Parts: sequence; structure tokens; C-alpha cells
Amino acid sequence: MTTTADAARIVRTVRGMPASDGAGVKLTRVIGSPQLPDLDPFLMLDEFGTDAPEDYLAGFPEHPHRGFETVTYMLDGRMRHKDNHGNEGLLVPGSVQWMTAGRGLVHSEMPEQEAGRMRGFQLWVNLPAKDKMTAPRYQEFAPARIPVVQAGAGVSVKVIAGVVDGVAGPIAQPATDPLYLDITLAAGASWQHTLPDGHNAFAYAFEGDVRAGEGDDARPLAAQELAVLGGGARLTVAAGDAGARLILVAGRPLREPVARHGPFVMNTRQELMQAFVDYEQGRF
Ligand code: MN
Repeated sequence: MTTTADAARIVRTVRGMPASDGAGVKLTRVIGSPQLPDLDPFLMLDEFGTDAPEDYLAGFPEHPHRGFETVTYMLDGRMRHKDNHGNEGLLVPGSVQWMTAGRGLVHSEMPEQEAGRMRGFQLWVNLPAKDKMTAPRYQEFAPARIPVVQAGAGVSVKVIAGVVDGVAGPIAQPATDPLYLDITLAAGASWQHTLPDGHNAFAYAFEGDVRAGEGDDARPLAAQELAVLGGGARLTVAAGDAGARLILVAGRPLREPVARHGPFVMNTRQELMQAFVDYEQGRF
């Protein structure tokens, strides 16, 4: 018999804040805002979603990264990325790019469309000190390479990272051992999943609304609201009458000092200053 002590629950909820990044792309910053500066190992979560080309056309021209990973999950629209090491690719709806910036690269992320909807997420995942200066690496997957598990009646789960019902997502990152799921719940459907032990976890509803938790601890999570999860490992999510879609993300916390400024995330202020020097001297 299970008890509610085993149940995961919503510790707090956070709404994203309107923000602008790149050359003026409008987005919603959910992690990395004053309300939730980080959730170790996660440094930032942006949701971008708009039908208005003027909100995204300027894109993200050349900019550097060092010391962490950027994870782009496209829902709608097409984005072309190019870096200064000769890597280039086109992100299409449903694709994922897990980019390990490591010791550094300079890249651009530009919309490859002039009309229509652009929608998706960018998550920043920290790297441990021992991996911050590794060579840059891409794990990039077309939609067909990301498994979808029918996890119950009215429950469909895209497994980007982690394991659901024995089905593993394509992303490998031993440092933080991430879970990244895109969960679609039909009206009234519910699903239970055991969260990885000792990891920090959040759920972010982006269509419809859900209830998360069990019994008296169950709480509603509205669309565009992030839930920081805590308590036990057994997470229950249930959709309301309109159905729901959410991402569920978890990772092993690094518990290391963070020195960050803009696109550089290191452990010490000295390393941060070295990142600026290396970038200015063209060593990325
Ligand atoms: Mn970038």
C-alpha cells in the first residue's frame, strides 16, 4: 500500500515574466527571473510562442556561450542555427537540440520563416566544473527520432530524455542525468510517474490545466504556470475537462558555486572574467 508520503507535490508555483532577448525576440522567462533565479541544475527556461512575425523575426544573431548547455525544443516554426566551428542545422517542429557549449562557441539562432507561428522552449542546463571546458557537442534529433509512449488511456508522452515504461529518450548527459518529457493528457486523463531520486524537478503546463499531487495535497496548475515539485517521488498529474499539455523536467543538482553573467556560466568570478577575455580575443 502506498501512502501520501511517497507522493510528489507542488512546493510552489511561478508564472513567467515577459522578457526580450536576442535582437528583440519576445518571450516568457519562467526560470532565470527574480522569482525563480534557478533550480539547480536548471539556469533558465524561456517559452517563446507567437503568431506575430514582428515578435520573432529579429532572431538571435551571433552570441557566445560557455560553461553550460542550451536545450531548444521546437513546437512550431523553423529555426536555423550556425556556429563558428562549422556546425549548422535546421530545427523543425518537434525537433530537439541539446547543445553542450563547453569551453565555448559563437552561434546564431534565426527564424527560417517570415510568417506563421513560432513556438517552443529553451532550457539552460548547468555543467559541473569538470565539464565546463569540454569541447562543444551537439545532440540534435528530428521529430521521428524522439519516441512517443502511449502511457495509458488518453496519455501520450514524448520522451526527449529519461525513461518512461522502459522507453529511453535519445539524449545522454551523465552529469545531470536529465528527464525531459512532453506529456499530452486527454480530457480527464491522469498519469503517474516516478521521479528520479534526489533530482530537482518541475512541471510547466503550456496548454489547458492540470492538477498535480494526490488527495488533499493535489493542487491546480494553470497554463503558463511552473510547478516546483517536492516531497515524494510518485508524481500524479490529471487533466481537466479541456485536456492538457505540459513538460516535466528533472535533473541531478550539481551543488556547486555558480558565477554567471549573460551567456557565461562558470564556478568562480575569475573564471567568468577569463571567459570575457577569451571571447574578446577570439578563443571561442
Ligand atoms: Mn544561444
